[in-house]
Amino acid sequence: MVPSDARIFVAGHRGLVGSAILRRLSSAGYENILTATRDQLDLRDQAAVNYWFKANRPDYVYLAAGTVGGIMANSTRPAEFLYDNMMIHGTVVHASHQFDVQKLLYLGSSCIYPRHATQPIDEDQLLSGPLEPTNESYALAKIAGIKLCQSYRTQYGSNFISAMPTNLYGPGDNFNLESSHVVPALMRKFHDAKIAREPKVEVWGTGSPMREFLYVDDLADACVFLMDNYSEAQHINVGTGVDLAIAELAETLAEIIYPRAEIVFDRSKPDGMPRKVLDVTKLRELGWSPKHELRDGLQTTYDWFLSQDLADLRTASVA
Ligand code: GDP
Repeated sequence: MVPSDARIFVAGHRGLVGSAILRRLSSAGYENILTATRDQLDLRDQAAVNYWFKANRPDYVYLAAGTVGGIMANSTRPAEFLYDNMMIHGTVVHASHQFDVQKLLYLGSSCIYPRHATQPIDEDQLLSGPLEPTNESYALAKIAGIKLCQSYRTQYGSNFISAMPTNLYGPGDNFNLESSHVVPALMRKFHDAKIAREPKVEVWGTGSPMREFLYVDDLADACVFLMDNYSEAQHINVGTGVDLAIAELAETLAEIIYPRAEIVFDRSKPDGMPRKVLDVTKLRELGWSPKHELRDGLQTTYDWFLSQDLADLRTASVA
């Protein structure tokens, strides 16, 4: 168990995942949570990261920082996705080794798995085939991050573990249509259409891709659980094990936000991976399972969205 007075660094605390981890740690009573904003610390800069680690001496690290985004951002900004993420993983893992961090949890993504992986996808399918082209750069950086943690474990005995969450959503998400994932994008589109009394709402692709969605507070809970209960080299999937078609997701969001909307599919936009649902047997056998149902999680996220300054959310950059 991580002691309640441990010094815990949450890298990426302003993002969807990092902010949820922060909430979870605070509610569990951890007193010494360390954070650094992008202005205070450029995580791509090894010298700056070393300096920060030397000054702040974290005992535990949650590595949730990175350049992230949906299918359009991933396919149009591959250089940023590869460079930023490789650098951030490299600097934080290396500094954690150099400054004697007791345990690090690295967060990857389900896009690390091959495009034609057998569904549901178990952990052993990593590197068993070609990647989905729309997120190849991001996936390569994320795979390098897993291998980095394993390599430090092999060479130095570091207790660095990796969790691979499925598609996430929840309060604190990015609602910028150019860089967001499907849940916040559709939430905003239905909301804006309702306000403008516009009957049609555009959904990218054919609506047939299958995706699994995990409420971000469930992921945060799983991360804290893994920090306490998991110390193996192999990465571990975090999800619900349940998926649905993008068309069904759109219908559910329409019911919550704008039931009279007419859903129109824009087939000029990419579908991405045909299906992506994780096999979560390993995590369930450890004793963890998610608590939030999709519909409830979507409703809570929409309520959060309504409570925000919408002008800020629309222009927010990538987390
Ligand atoms: P992915 O899981 O990496 O493909 O990430 P996304 O969340 O960006 O996209 C999931 C699926 O939702 C893809 O098939 C998208 O084409 C589809 N989708 C439908 N409408 C939208 C939209 O407005 N924004 C995004 N990002 N995806 C959309």
